[in-house]
Amino acid sequence: MAKTILEVRELTTKYVTRFHEDVYAVDHVSLQIEEGKSLGIAGESGCGKSTLALSLMGYYFPPLHYMSGEIIIDGKNISGLDPDVVRRTVLGKDVAYIPQAAMNALNPTRKISAFIEDVILAHEPGRKRKEIRDMARKRFEELHLPQEALDRYAVELSGGMKQRVVIAVSTILSPTVLIADEPSSALDVTSQKVVIKMLREMMEKGFIKSMIFITHELPLLYNVTDDIMVMYAGQIVERGSAKEMVFDPIHPYSRGLMKSILVPEDGTRANKLTAIPGTPPNLKNPPRGCRFAERCKYAKPSCETVSVPMIDIGGGRMYRCGHSVKHLKEVYASED
Ligand code: SF4
Repeated sequence: MAKTILEVRELTTKYVTRFHEDVYAVDHVSLQIEEGKSLGIAGESGCGKSTLALSLMGYYFPPLHYMSGEIIIDGKNISGLDPDVVRRTVLGKDVAYIPQAAMNALNPTRKISAFIEDVILAHEPGRKRKEIRDMARKRFEELHLPQEALDRYAVELSGGMKQRVVIAVSTILSPTVLIADEPSSALDVTSQKVVIKMLREMMEKGFIKSMIFITHELPLLYNVTDDIMVMYAGQIVERGSAKEMVFDPIHPYSRGLMKSILVPEDGTRANKLTAIPGTPPNLKNPPRGCRFAERCKYAKPSCETVSVPMIDIGGGRMYRCGHSVKHLKEVYASED
């Protein structure tokens, strides 16, 4: 049986605004990832996917606050730890994070080699400079990155190369879990492909044991991850294999998301593009019932008042809706 590398149980985190209002951006999220597997998280802007990524590191500082739940990485529970302990003992080793537009975070006045030294010494202060240099050279070679880049300043590298360098540096200590938040969104299509190929290679070579890839582009995940989860208003609304989620979504929101996006390069399906009407609810005061009810064309009266749990239908597939799968599929079939 495959080993569970990341287990998240009922994780809840919130932002506290400067007016002391609570915004529940991640609400009782549970997920698991097995060794060697990758999970994509998709959803509109503001659905909570980037906050979930930050929350999964166990490293909280205002305005983000941990409320409850557990994050277990390869058997180690990192939830509720002191931020200083997390920074010294968890980040970079148990979990590494590549934020959006990470390539712009490189200090333009320092060489890439100096940046690598900073990262390694922050986690392993006893390391010698030569040892660090050798580690960097080896990893760059393994990832087909030019050795000369080590002696360059960030401004001397192209956007795509900068992003590959940031990914290589962020994972130099071979973290158990890599969380990549829109790692390719700021790049041109060619650079996107190179970055995605590099992430896959890192999994294959065992530099990372599992990966979470966040994007608002559901079809992109089809080419990158094994499974996909869709988030809406701070909650998970559906999970399944990448193929199931792209070609056979169950939840009305997942289906709307797919229909609002151009599907894949391989041309296997031609959608009529339709937008999802309305906007997500205000998470300062989330709806009592289904959070998608205001925008859902399949809503029934109870949807507004009765909250729906995730329903596990087996085979790694789950969804959050008051209608049965059979009913939803019949309705979808009548529309297509
Ligand atoms: Fe739509 Fe009701 Fe299902 Fe929510 S529970 S997705 S409102 S049908």
